[in-house]
Amino acid sequence: MKLVKLFVTFGGAGVNGQIHGASGDARNVGRRSQVGAPSAVVLKHDAVEDVLRRQRGHLENVTDLLTVTGDDRQMWSDVQPGDLLFSLVFHVNSTIPIRQAGLAARSGAPPCDNPRMLIGAHVSCRGGIHTAVDRAAAIGADLFQTHPTPAQMWRPLRLDPEVRKQYLTSYAAAGMRGHYMHAVYLINLATPKDQLLRQSIGSLVHYMQLAEQLNADGVIFHPGSHLGAGFDGMLEQMGTALREVLERAPDSPAKLVVENSAGSGGCVGCSFEELGRIVDAAGSDRVGVCLDTQHMFASGYDVRTAEQVATTLDRFATDVGFERLALVHANDSRRPLGSNVDRHANIGEGEIGTEAFTLLLADDRLRGVPWILEVPGEDRSGPDLANINRLRECAGLAPRVLEPAAAG
Ligand SMILES: [Zn+2]
Ligand SMILES: [Zn+2]
Repeated sequence: MKLVKLFVTFGGAGVNGQIHGASGDARNVGRRSQVGAPSAVVLKHDAVEDVLRRQRGHLENVTDLLTVTGDDRQMWSDVQPGDLLFSLVFHVNSTIPIRQAGLAARSGAPPCDNPRMLIGAHVSCRGGIHTAVDRAAAIGADLFQTHPTPAQMWRPLRLDPEVRKQYLTSYAAAGMRGHYMHAVYLINLATPKDQLLRQSIGSLVHYMQLAEQLNADGVIFHPGSHLGAGFDGMLEQMGTALREVLERAPDSPAKLVVENSAGSGGCVGCSFEELGRIVDAAGSDRVGVCLDTQHMFASGYDVRTAEQVATTLDRFATDVGFERLALVHANDSRRPLGSNVDRHANIGEGEIGTEAFTLLLADDRLRGVPWILEVPGEDRSGPDLANINRLRECAGLAPRVLEPAAAG
């Protein structure tokens, strides 16, 4: 069994495009072929079905492709059923950005440990959004999150075409498996103030369009605060606002992801129930949920024993539903249970603790989504390899060891 890395470009119409890129082992050997053959070889595996389900919206074109391709392997004589396809990059046409999905075929012994459990981190994009990829790779992240714009300012990002190109190239070369964008903290869809609401919607539309340019997986935001007006009174407005964002970014592959809050005064979406009702109000499966472990704990959901994990996750299943869970923000807590204070700690250095993360990561419902660290890091410069490996250990995964070139 080999690792196979593919870069696929569809010519405008879809199926009969060219493969640019590679087969062989993880180091690419350049070759070209018709698009049908490798997909017939590799995409038949069951595991791909899971990925297709998880990445719905990204891969609709591929699903079409699967149904029309035959079993013609002649151009891919060195690719065999059972080979692992670890990265597939689609260029649907010259105006639509590259689409990426990590795909793993199941048969045979997997060459990497559990390719379906993804652990990544929030990284800076100081110096341009393309630089985020290298930072993520340098700490052993499978995927990453960014603030594409300053976190506390209404300042849109004007994406330079050259930066976009560099980003897409680095992303593919690094074999990254996802990119979530975190919106500015100023967004408030529950505000009674009309101007702030309009600004918030406009900002989310901007991120969704940016995500389309960069083929990012999701745009994460905190739903905001009702400022005393009450959750129920603002719920319909939140639903309408989310629908407007989706309508104004109809082709964005990104999920619009609502994150649970830690629960300070007037905030909406700190309980699972509120989170679920916000998503319900939007009425679209393009809206998903991010579960932040620190915010969950600060909101009073305990996960330090196996029973508590079961109770908490069952509550999540009932009030939100795991089919809506897009990702987990993995953070330990500097504050105790129910504190309602948003203070992240390194994994194992807070009130949640390693044991709880191990219990959470033992649950298949949480292993099916990416985990992204937003921790201070050992030297307080942000998520690092040490925290990634602490989480990997809790998940029963082998530690990441960086190649000297990537560590610099
Ligand atoms: Zn978070
Ligand atoms: Zn937080």
